[in-house]
Amino acid sequence: MELVNNKYQVDGVDVLSLIEKYGSPLYVYETARMKVQYEKFTNAFKGVKLKINFACKALTNINILKYFRQLGAGLDAVSIQEIQLSLKAGYKPKDIIFTPNCVSINEIKEAVDLGVRINIDNLSILEQFGHIYSKKIPVCIRINPHIMGGGHEKISTGHIDSKFGISVYQVPHLLRVIKANDMVVEGVHMHTGSDILDADVFLNGTEILMDVAKNFPDLEYIDFGSGFKVPYKPDDIQTDIDDLGNKLVKRFKDFCKEYGKNLTLMFEPGKFMVSESGYFFARVNVVKQTTATVFAGLDTGLNHLIRPMFYDAYHHIVNVSKPHANTRIYTVVGYICETDTFGWNRKLNEVTEGDILAFYNAGAYCFAMASNYNSRFRPAEVLIHEKKDYLIRHRETLEDLLKNQVEIEF
Ligand SMILES: *Cc1c(COP(=O)(O)O)cnc(C)c1O
Repeated sequence: MELVNNKYQVDGVDVLSLIEKYGSPLYVYETARMKVQYEKFTNAFKGVKLKINFACKALTNINILKYFRQLGAGLDAVSIQEIQLSLKAGYKPKDIIFTPNCVSINEIKEAVDLGVRINIDNLSILEQFGHIYSKKIPVCIRINPHIMGGGHEKISTGHIDSKFGISVYQVPHLLRVIKANDMVVEGVHMHTGSDILDADVFLNGTEILMDVAKNFPDLEYIDFGSGFKVPYKPDDIQTDIDDLGNKLVKRFKDFCKEYGKNLTLMFEPGKFMVSESGYFFARVNVVKQTTATVFAGLDTGLNHLIRPMFYDAYHHIVNVSKPHANTRIYTVVGYICETDTFGWNRKLNEVTEGDILAFYNAGAYCFAMASNYNSRFRPAEVLIHEKKDYLIRHRETLEDLLKNQVEIEF
């Protein structure tokens, strides 16, 4: 978002006129930023065979899936429904990797029938898979290297108590299962959770994974997952992707030489691709002064943006309506009937009722986690592409709330 002649714009489109046109609250995404992020990644990992799979659970609007397809990305899906959406968005089955956790063997069989790549993250399912398919369907194995990448405890997945992946300490047993069922392993994978701060911790994880990889002679790719941190606050640090790229490309090339084959280097970023491309706009319904605090109460709540209440996520907030007013301290809250705080003690340009506030970093895990709690409608979504705005999802209506309800007679 840029401030141009005292007005906030998203890729050249005036924010307040978007609100006038589509109403509030509103999610707005810009493709220009997605492209920048995608290219940052591809530039950082030049010199190896690279495949970037967009982890679509971050933002599953079909237009976003299509946009990433035409950028050249593959797709990382965590449910059969995400696979179905991706196929609808035009992805080839082999460009989709299914990386679920704790799903049934039946869901995995459905995914096999759709022709996508299968990533298995526990020995029980691996064994069942082996009994059914043996070497007919190659698999990827999700390893848990047990590293702590950083980030909030609720979003880290690589530590010893995590439910994700097959522990690196179980590799001997893993190898027995593979051998006993005559299975073909085409990839090894790790995903160590979100908000990786420390590139060296991540690189340690990659060493562990490459060490495991040596056990499998039929590999086509190594998938290093994701979890790259993006900035949330104006002067926040982020994963230095160029530095990571330099180091890992060099190491990966050496590994391939040793392994005797040019493997594909895979990643599956979600947040890195879309977090900063999205904004969430809401209107101030009430400014409420209590004894200790001034609250700005919005026409939205944790039903539309749950990350602050769910795992203490920080979303930077600005007053779009008054870019130059004096600043005051506000606690920004939602309209849901439980504690529903977006930000404590935020410095905002003076807020009056009717003003539009913007939340930054609203591209990843925001609309995707929205619900109908308090029987509210989910917001509309708008995409800015080449400086033009497109409605990509209607705001819901009462009909949507009632659609699957079955009324009985009393
Ligand atoms: C959620 C998820 C990702 C994406 O993580 P980000 O932190 O959004 O980049 C990647 N891989 C798997 C398997 C996931 O479940």
